[in-house]
Amino acid sequence: MMMSTNETMTFNLPDELTGFRDVTRSFAAEKIAPYAREWDEKKWIPDEVIAEMGRTGLLGVTMPEEYGGAGQGLLGMTVVVEEIARWCGATALMIAAHSGLCSTHIRLAGNDAQKKEWLPKLANGEVIGAWCLSEPECGTDAEALSTRAEKTSSGWVLNGRKFWITNGQRAGVFVVTARTKPERGARTISAFIVKRDTPGLIIGEREDKMGMRASDTTPVNLENCEIPEENLCGELHEGYIDALRVLDRGRVTIGSLSVGLARGCLEEAVKYAAERQSFGVPLHSHQAIQLKLADMDTQVEAARLLVRQAACTHDAGRPDKQLSSIAKLFASEMASRVGWESIQIHGGAGYTKDVCVERLVRDNKLCEIGEGSSEVQRMLIARAECKRHSA
Ligand SMILES: Cc1cc2nc3c(=O)[nH]c(=O)nc-3n(C[C@H](O)[C@H](O)[C@H](O)COP(=O)(O)OP(=O)(O)OC[C@H]3O[C@@H](n4cnc5c(N)ncnc54)[C@H](O)[C@@H]3O)c2cc1C
Repeated sequence: MMMSTNETMTFNLPDELTGFRDVTRSFAAEKIAPYAREWDEKKWIPDEVIAEMGRTGLLGVTMPEEYGGAGQGLLGMTVVVEEIARWCGATALMIAAHSGLCSTHIRLAGNDAQKKEWLPKLANGEVIGAWCLSEPECGTDAEALSTRAEKTSSGWVLNGRKFWITNGQRAGVFVVTARTKPERGARTISAFIVKRDTPGLIIGEREDKMGMRASDTTPVNLENCEIPEENLCGELHEGYIDALRVLDRGRVTIGSLSVGLARGCLEEAVKYAAERQSFGVPLHSHQAIQLKLADMDTQVEAARLLVRQAACTHDAGRPDKQLSSIAKLFASEMASRVGWESIQIHGGAGYTKDVCVERLVRDNKLCEIGEGSSEVQRMLIARAECKRHSA
């Protein structure tokens, strides 16, 4: 957790973030909660809502102030994403991909000209960003990607197929990873900034997903897609290393998304258990229901602490990758457990679309898969732990 100068642990959010949290909470309750079910059904978040999130500062939380952002750290990002995910996982995922992946990659690896060109527009939502690492043949094993970037006299030509790209349909800019050396290895891949209107960048049909339905997920094909020399983002052959840095942070963000979804499931269960009568008393009078609520509450609190602790290590400049994986793993699996318990407390009603819990549970499943699945997180955690003990 955050350490103050006298090394005392403090578990309170700084005042500035409390304000940010409250603004986001009000925004989410007023502008997202009443419509999230409709967006899920229509498989789209209206453009006006995203534009308003941009104006409210929710798309540029971690962007430095000089680029029009709020200048907050990853902790700030977790606070905002939790509040949005409380009502709509898809909207939170849209922010996670836009800010947490695309904008973060350009911020961490881009040169001054690229930052000046893109970060202000990404921070205020004038342009939405997408981040293209996964391919049809490789997601977990992303280092095996086969999209190629070939050098020409004037720049680069990209060829390949990217898959599962969040914001694919609405994005105006894409960060694309491609192979710049034929052999396998972490330092054989580079990242490129590709504008939407570049000939040869072809957006495929939206996926018909189980959850996160309002978030658009598409293939992105690159067919002789020519980009200028200056669109290389970061050092040549270092794109995968930069992508891993982005993902380390992204995992913490996904952890906070799960905390938000789980909190939604808990709050809905608490409300329902107070309103619903059985055997002449509210559901929450039955000890069996109280025990479920207690376990749910405990798990949400524990996950939030892990997520915020992991975020603080990044903000302190000493990122703890193992902790990022632990936070993501625990939070995402916790949210599924809490979600199913919430459905159980809702009884038959929980099995319908009349309550939002079923949507939150569907949304959360993605958090156990994307940005490094649970299996991958376990591998990373075990590897780090074994290394630590053998050192
Ligand atoms: C809704 C959605 C949005 C997404 N958004 C983006 C995006 O914006 N940008 C982007 O680049 N990608 C995105 N992804 C892709 C996502 O990151 C991948 O789906 C994920 O990394 C898993 O890759 P895969 O689907 O190819 O599964 P695979 O890699 O084929 O894995 C299949 C299963 O095998 C397991 N597995 C694989 N290797 C091992 C191993 N060595 N040991 C044990 N188990 C293993 C996995 O954990 C998984 O359970 C998105 C995916 C979805 C579903």
